[in-house]
Amino acid sequence: MAWKLTRDGATVHVLPGNGGIPNSHPEISATDFPAIQSFCEAHGVKLIVVGPEAPLAAGVTDFFAGSDIRVFGPSRAGATLESSKVWSKDFMRRHGVATAMSWQYRSDKLDEARAKATELEGQVVVKYDGLAAGKGVYVCSAIDEAHAALDDLQQQHTGWFSFLLEEKLTGPEISIIGVTDGNRVRLLAPSQDHKQLLAGDQGPNTGGMGAYCPVPFCDDNVLAAIRTSIVDPTLRGLQNEQFDFNGFLYFGIMLTPQGPKLLEYNVRLGDPEAEVLLPALESSLLELIEAALDGKLQQTVVRQRRSYYVGVVLASGGYPAAQFPTGFPITGLDQLHPSILAFHGATKQSADGELVTSGGRVMVLVGHGEELEDAVNHVYREVERVKFQDVYIRTDIGQRPEPTLAG
Ligand code: ATP
Repeated sequence: MAWKLTRDGATVHVLPGNGGIPNSHPEISATDFPAIQSFCEAHGVKLIVVGPEAPLAAGVTDFFAGSDIRVFGPSRAGATLESSKVWSKDFMRRHGVATAMSWQYRSDKLDEARAKATELEGQVVVKYDGLAAGKGVYVCSAIDEAHAALDDLQQQHTGWFSFLLEEKLTGPEISIIGVTDGNRVRLLAPSQDHKQLLAGDQGPNTGGMGAYCPVPFCDDNVLAAIRTSIVDPTLRGLQNEQFDFNGFLYFGIMLTPQGPKLLEYNVRLGDPEAEVLLPALESSLLELIEAALDGKLQQTVVRQRRSYYVGVVLASGGYPAAQFPTGFPITGLDQLHPSILAFHGATKQSADGELVTSGGRVMVLVGHGEELEDAVNHVYREVERVKFQDVYIRTDIGQRPEPTLAG
């Protein structure tokens, strides 16, 4: 976002930022609102564009409401669409948004959930009700597995909690992300991420090992069905319930044999989807955001570039385990072809000014091309040039076999 907004003519500061973004301020936490306010006042900042979900769920938009600093991102109430899976499922149901059947339980009703999972022959998805950084969802294929998921849920969370049992859907997944003012939405290109660690969609779930856009099989017919059954009812819901919702709205969708179904909302851009969507966006993101804040989205047209974009994550060896070594020097960025974009994630400058790894997903390299295959080749030709100890790269981003869609 910092890269795109800078290209759009804005002067951008990033809190806390990382080792690659100019104007990063690692000393300021994204949830320390008074510190952010002082920073904005000192630097004349008039617009805050929120990246991750935590500050939204903690109420950054509410904190600045009524001040002359505008925040692009929903209020705490709007962020509940992402932060509570139970609440968001109820919202989908209230407004006729196409989604999986589900049953809601409290932690004192685990036995009822076990019985339901048995009745559904274990073909269920168990979802913890709260932000769990992608770790609160168990996709099950057998009764034993579903019961083990419920046991694990009980062990992971002390005290009282809620959770959902959902029917397990099948089909390819896509992400549809839009800029909205709560009344209208302007959609960016459809994209697909690759959540599992290993090639062939195997291994543990991660924050995302790569993404690409646009998605060739997500044609106008598919998009029209998504609009009718998911996007439009969502907007009607936001209006009916009088949400003051400015921000990115992310629809995680499964294209099932019965049509598109919504798996989840996020109230922000996805990562690594953002790293391919924003280079693909020809229009000014700054203008889109300002149009949403001014209630002028209706007059705004979104122009996309014609190319395909593929982003490959360079991760630390050991990720996504709870612990793995970091602090390794990163080299080779100066060897990259100038047409490759290198977006930093978990990087920082060490005390002696060296660029080092500082977390799981270290950076995303993005290539492009006229066809998806060209974009894949473009980025994979270059990824080997960037080096750090134990670097891990998934080898099949953007290369899933094209699915056959029913209907
Ligand atoms: P994210 O990290 O994407 O924010 P999350 O933890 O908020 O994920 P979901 O997106 O609801 O959780 O689910 C994570 C993944 O689990 C989905 O991308 C999908 O692969 C799978 N999944 C979720 N719900 C279902 C379902 N009803 N049927 C089949 N698979 C599902």
